[in-house]
Amino acid sequence: MKTIAFFLLMFFILQFTVAQNDFQRVFNSKINSTKENVRIEFLDDLGNSGYLPISIIKGKTHGPVFTIVAGVHGYEYPPIIATQALLKEINPEELRGTLIIIPIANLASFYTRTPFINPQDQKNLNNAFPGKKVGSITDRIAFFIRENIIAVSDVFLDVHGGDAPEDLLPFVCYYDNQRKQEQTNLAKKLSENSGFQYVVSYPYKLTATEAAKYTFKQAVQDGKIALSIECGKLGNVQKENVNLIQQGIYNMLETMDMYYNGTGAHKDIVYRNRQTYVKANVDGIFYSNFKAGDEVKKDEVVGYTTDEFGTILEEHIAISDGIILYMLATPPVNAKDTVMCISSYVEN
Ligand SMILES: [Zn+2]
Repeated sequence: MKTIAFFLLMFFILQFTVAQNDFQRVFNSKINSTKENVRIEFLDDLGNSGYLPISIIKGKTHGPVFTIVAGVHGYEYPPIIATQALLKEINPEELRGTLIIIPIANLASFYTRTPFINPQDQKNLNNAFPGKKVGSITDRIAFFIRENIIAVSDVFLDVHGGDAPEDLLPFVCYYDNQRKQEQTNLAKKLSENSGFQYVVSYPYKLTATEAAKYTFKQAVQDGKIALSIECGKLGNVQKENVNLIQQGIYNMLETMDMYYNGTGAHKDIVYRNRQTYVKANVDGIFYSNFKAGDEVKKDEVVGYTTDEFGTILEEHIAISDGIILYMLATPPVNAKDTVMCISSYVEN
């Protein structure tokens, strides 16, 4: 019996190794104008299995490697649906360089309709970087993305939206990494050309050895040009948000001289570089008369939380003036949740 178990184990390990090399084999192929899909299999020590779908589109001529990831959070649908449209539309004959597209990074979250986390190991893929070679399934997926996909990317775009309970104003964002000015400048230029009105930058203070946690922050730490789109809300597919994402990606590809289907930058770009976060201190039922995109004033009451009998437990207060970039928009609230992200602009 032990021998059979050993051979079975070897068989699984071998399968795993072969499957993981599939990406490298396709990516390194010298054949132009091709589109190949691979599924990278994962199996962890807890018995969780799954795969990462990856489409590799090689253009007619040599050029940059541009990666697009959707579904790191599987309940954020507009990024996933926009990516599906791109997969259908993009003609390799008209492409310069290579596109790597991960249409749904967290399939278990998608198919079980679970916000934020992978229900198999209860981990958030967007909190798991750099990942672990031998960890639970989310750690392994993060590790694979970093070692194989980020490593070969020139530009890395991670597309998100408001998750199931979140209202959100569409925006494009990048890290203001002062130590890598060239990459930061190009991430800013891609953001400005995306067609999104709101261009948001985050401060970047990560050292080389700290865990990046977030998917596109890992790409920044690894010296790549990286940015993120946030578009869509409340676990729904809004046609206008799908279109914004699609157009945003075409505009970025055009900026990179890789594909020509752009519509140009927004005529009235609004820059934001300072975010404050209103946090909940209690569990309860959340109320607010505000929505994403509304202006709020410092010290204004922006919502409140009651217990199950209607007694007010907490009033939520704006920490700064600004617009609501995203906010909780459904009743359940848990202590430590971000109730609201308020965004403003300060001159350096
Ligand atoms: Zn997300």
